[in-house]
Amino acid sequence: MYRADYELINYEIANIFSNKKLLSWTTNKEIDATYYLSTQRLGNGGRSISIRGRHVIDFEIPFNDDLAFENAVFAVLTALNFDQFPKKIIEKSKTLKSIGMRLEIKKGINDCLLINDTYNSDLNALSSALNLLSQQEVQKNKTLILSQIEESELSAEELNDQLALLIVKNEISKVIGVGEQLYDLKKLLPEKISSTFYKNTDQLLSALFPTDFSNENILIKGARKYNLEQVFDRLSVKVHQTVLEINMEALRHNLSVYRSYLNKGTKLMVVLKASAYGSGGVELARFLSFQHVDYIAVAYIDEGVEMRKSGIQKPIMVMNPEEAGFRQLIAYGLEPEMYSIAQLESLISELDGKDLGIHLKIETGMHRLGFEDTVIPELLTLLKLNPNLKIRSVFSHLVGSDDPDLDDFSREQIRSFDMAYEKITQALDLSPDRHILNSNGISRFSRYQYEMVRLGIGLHGVTDDPEMDEKLQKVQTLKTHIAQIKHILPGESVGYNRKYIAKEPMTTGTINIGYADGLPRLAGNGRFSVLCNGKQAPIVGNVCMDMCMINLNGIQAIEGDEVIVFGPEWPISKLAEVTQTIPYEILTRLSSRIHRIFTRE
Ligand SMILES: *Cc1c(COP(=O)(O)O)cnc(C)c1O
Repeated sequence: MYRADYELINYEIANIFSNKKLLSWTTNKEIDATYYLSTQRLGNGGRSISIRGRHVIDFEIPFNDDLAFENAVFAVLTALNFDQFPKKIIEKSKTLKSIGMRLEIKKGINDCLLINDTYNSDLNALSSALNLLSQQEVQKNKTLILSQIEESELSAEELNDQLALLIVKNEISKVIGVGEQLYDLKKLLPEKISSTFYKNTDQLLSALFPTDFSNENILIKGARKYNLEQVFDRLSVKVHQTVLEINMEALRHNLSVYRSYLNKGTKLMVVLKASAYGSGGVELARFLSFQHVDYIAVAYIDEGVEMRKSGIQKPIMVMNPEEAGFRQLIAYGLEPEMYSIAQLESLISELDGKDLGIHLKIETGMHRLGFEDTVIPELLTLLKLNPNLKIRSVFSHLVGSDDPDLDDFSREQIRSFDMAYEKITQALDLSPDRHILNSNGISRFSRYQYEMVRLGIGLHGVTDDPEMDEKLQKVQTLKTHIAQIKHILPGESVGYNRKYIAKEPMTTGTINIGYADGLPRLAGNGRFSVLCNGKQAPIVGNVCMDMCMINLNGIQAIEGDEVIVFGPEWPISKLAEVTQTIPYEILTRLSSRIHRIFTRE
């Protein structure tokens, strides 16, 4: 059975299987196939699928993406071609749940970093997971915990040869194997690589002592049936069960959306201030370095130092460099934003003639930091006297790039930026890069992209612009769990100060998130709802410091169930709106006790 929409596949299948019974399907009326299908995206995030041909059937799936569509079609067509067609498939397809098939990166015990990829095992998947392992912090030793490979045409011997090659090439220092087929691998590995092998996962677990692991990057990779996620659990740091999941694929997607607005050659600076808007500055810096961004911007010197210490080599601009940190700034090769004469003079004396790349910030209307027009002559004098200051760029910032009512003001800002740039560069006979666009600027004013743009919030898929909202993917999911369920009688109250008094019987769930985690107290008393098993559950009563209570009436839930505070299906903008703030503030105020988990497809 195959999809007939691809000419090459059609041709090859007809060739190779000319004497077999073939079933094919297509979504293209022009193509000849056993089944013709039409499909439609539904408002609820699902799809309807109609099958016409040898069988006639209509059904729905709760997913929108093409991969799920294709998988569902193959499953249903296969079922249809059995003598006893299980009709339940049609009813149940609507309520399918997506399963986690993603690779997880998580903090492990004793300063280890864990990569959990325990859903399949073949050489290609292993090779790309090893690649990812190599992209992590370089100073740490690399460990591979591996099950024997199940999905391969190769013999055990050939597989072991290939594995040995991959292990050596990726400079793994420790190998832990599960499955008898791997036993011979030991002989193939150089002596300096330590290796231990176990018959099955249970044996490994009983021999696994957390103290044997420290300061390592560990890849756990195996076929699903080996359940190596138990090893992952054992080596994970046990934390507060409220987590912020950061979907790196969505981040990558958003980056490419913004890149589509840029001319070839326009540089991209990613703004990773405040721990990359709360998601993790170092992790995002590392990921984005591999996506070939040109520059990183941070707010304070410490943020840049932390990145350098974890091996980030991209140029880093520091937007608010405080004098107290100038020595560190210079030592770590960070490039400061310069915005005043006094600050420039103090940098000059600290530099003592040494070279340093700097960025000049021009005041054009924000009235935050920046050189005003009146001090430009003085600035030019200082710059001429100190040729060791290398001007990497000249820039400014729009105050309302997201607001159509302020478009005239934005153009005004751009005009005064142009004028200041002319003055400075003519006097110095230089032409450093220019930049003025932030995320909303990139999508709304792409003509003014000059030589570089600065992308911040848009990376995270957050925007007010409906058109961009269509294109971007949400990156963060904040989720927690139900700690306890209670049944409240009329007249009983919930939470501090009896702010909620039940009028009718009510079931509540106490969830592990409160204002100390960054859930604003304004979200309480019914103003905001979380999602529990796909349904909206309003917060009942006041939000407490570490917890709050939600109304579970009409919702099937048990203790331990997951609750979504925001995520792709429940945009953060809702929470921001009812708590009278903006997504930037919500994201950057999430407490550090909330564990960050980075996922990849
Ligand atoms: C924060 C910031 C940005 C990024 O803005 P977004 O709206 O998040 O894209 C760009 N430039 C400067 C100077 C900033 O302070």
